Amino acid sequence: MLQFEQTAAAYTDKTAILASGQQYTYEQLIRAARSFATQLLAGRNDLNESRVAYMVEPGFHYVRTQWAIWLAGGIAVPLCINHPPPALRYTLTDSQVDQVVCTAAYLDLIRPLTEDLDLELIVLDKTLEADPEIEPLPEIGPDRRAMILYTSGTTNQPKGVVSTHKNLRAQIEVLHRAWEWSDQDHILCVLPLHHVHGIINVVNCSLWRGASCEFLPAFSPEAVFAAFLRGEINVFMAVPTIYYKLIAHYDTLPADEQANIQRTLRKFRLMVSGSAALPVSVMERWEAISGHRLLERYGMTEIGMALSNAYASQRFPGHVGLPLPGVEIRLRSEDNEPIDAEEAGEIQVKGPTVFTEYWQKPEPTAEAFTADGWFKTGDIAQLDPEMGYRILGRNSVDIIKSGGYKISALEIEEVLRRHPAIKDCAVVGVPNEEWGEIVAAALVGVDGSIDIEALKNWLKDYLPGYRIPRYYTTVADLPRNAMGKVTKKEVVKLFTNPA
Ligand code: ATP
Ligand code: MG
Repeated sequence: MLQFEQTAAAYTDKTAILASGQQYTYEQLIRAARSFATQLLAGRNDLNESRVAYMVEPGFHYVRTQWAIWLAGGIAVPLCINHPPPALRYTLTDSQVDQVVCTAAYLDLIRPLTEDLDLELIVLDKTLEADPEIEPLPEIGPDRRAMILYTSGTTNQPKGVVSTHKNLRAQIEVLHRAWEWSDQDHILCVLPLHHVHGIINVVNCSLWRGASCEFLPAFSPEAVFAAFLRGEINVFMAVPTIYYKLIAHYDTLPADEQANIQRTLRKFRLMVSGSAALPVSVMERWEAISGHRLLERYGMTEIGMALSNAYASQRFPGHVGLPLPGVEIRLRSEDNEPIDAEEAGEIQVKGPTVFTEYWQKPEPTAEAFTADGWFKTGDIAQLDPEMGYRILGRNSVDIIKSGGYKISALEIEEVLRRHPAIKDCAVVGVPNEEWGEIVAAALVGVDGSIDIEALKNWLKDYLPGYRIPRYYTTVADLPRNAMGKVTKKEVVKLFTNPA
C-alpha cells in the first residue's frame, strides 16, 4: 500500500483539502483517486511506468490526478499551468508522455499539442460520483519510478528528474521528522505544483501526514493575508520573493489591519523559506511583522531537502543550518578532494532521498555522481561550526572567477541590499579576456535613480576592492523564472548585449 493510502484509511472524515470555498475529506480524495486510476487504466492491469502528464488547477482534482497516476502504476509528470505551448511541448516530448490529463479550462491550450504529438488526451470530469467504478489496482513496489519533475531551468534547459516511490517517501518522512509535522497542521499552498517545494514539501508532506492543505486559485498578497486572518492556517512555506511581496503589501495597510495580521501570524507553528537564498533584510522584516524567524532550508529537485535551520533551536541569518536526518552531506574541492574544515566547497549528497536518474539522459546522470556514489549539487557552501552551512551560490553562475579570486555573488548581493537606495539586485560575472570574469551588478532602485559613484564609495566599507562590482546597470525588474528565481544568464546579457 502506498503511504497516502494508509493515511487516507486512517483519516477518512478529516478535511484533506480546502479549495475554492469547498472542503474535501480524505475519504473523498482517495475514492476519487481510485476511480480516476481505474479510468486511466482503461482495462489494463498496470500502467507499468508509462508517463502521464497533467495540467490541472491546484486543488482537489490536482491531488486526485497525481494519486490516481501513482495508484495505476504510472509516472506522474506535472505540467506548469503557466507555461506557453513551446515549454509544454518540451516537457511532453522530453518525458515521452503517453497520456495527458487536463481540465476543461486548459483544453484549448492542450488539445493542439496532443493532436500534433499524437498523445491520448483525457479531459478530467470534475463531477464526483457517489459510487464510482473501482477496479482492482496494481501493487506498487517502492523501487518503481513515481515522478518526473523538471528542474527550474535556472541555469539551463530544465532536466527531467526521476524519483522512485522510495525516494519521495524518504523526502517526505525526513521533513515530517525534522519539522514536526502533525495531523493538526493546516498549510496554505501558494507555490507552483510542478516543483519540489510545492508538490512535495507543501502538498504531499501535509497530506501524507493527515493534515489539511488549503489552496489559493492564484497568489496575491491580499488573498494570502485574508486566508491567514481566518485563523486556521498554522504552517506556511514560500520562496523569498513571496515574502518580499507580502512585506511590501503589509507596509501599505492601515495600522489596525497590520495589528490583526501580526496577532494572527504569531500563532503560526512554522514558516519556511527556500528555493533561493533568503536575503537577511527580508528575514528581519518578516520577523518584525510575524514574530517568527523564518526557517530557511536548502534543497533541489534531485535530492528533495538536504539542509535546514533547526526547528526548535536557534536559527542563524544567512545560514541554512545542518543536514536533515538521514541525509549525508560532504563538501568537496573542484577536483573532488576533501577540503579543510573552514574552506568552501561543493555540496555533495547521499542517501535515500537522492533521485535515480535524469530521464533518458545516461551521460548527464553519470556526470552528476562521483565514482563513490555522491550526487554533485553544483552548489558551493561553507560550514561554520556554530551556525551551520552557508550557501555561497551555484558554481556555474554565482561563483565569479575574477583575476584568480573566487567571489560569491550572493555575498555581494547581501551587502548591496543593505544600501537604502537599493530595492533588489543581482550580481554576475561578465566574461572578460584579461580577468576571466568581471563583477557586475544589476540594480533595482527604490525610486529608480542610484548614484553609482557614491555607491562604490559606500561599498568600500563593506567589501575588499576586488569584490566591488565594476559594471552597473539599473533595471525596473530583475529577470526571473516561474519559481521567482533570478535567471542570471539573462542578467549577464544586460551587460554583454545592452539594449
Ligand atoms: P536548473 O537545475 O534547471 O538550473 P534549479 O537548480 O533552479 O534549475 P531547482 O532544483 O528547483 O532547479 O532548484 C535547486 C537550486 O536552488 C539549488 O541547487 C540551489 O542553487 C538553489 N537553492 C535552493 N534553496 C536554496 C537556499 N536556501 N539558498 C540558496 N540557494 C538555494
Ligand atoms: Mg539545478
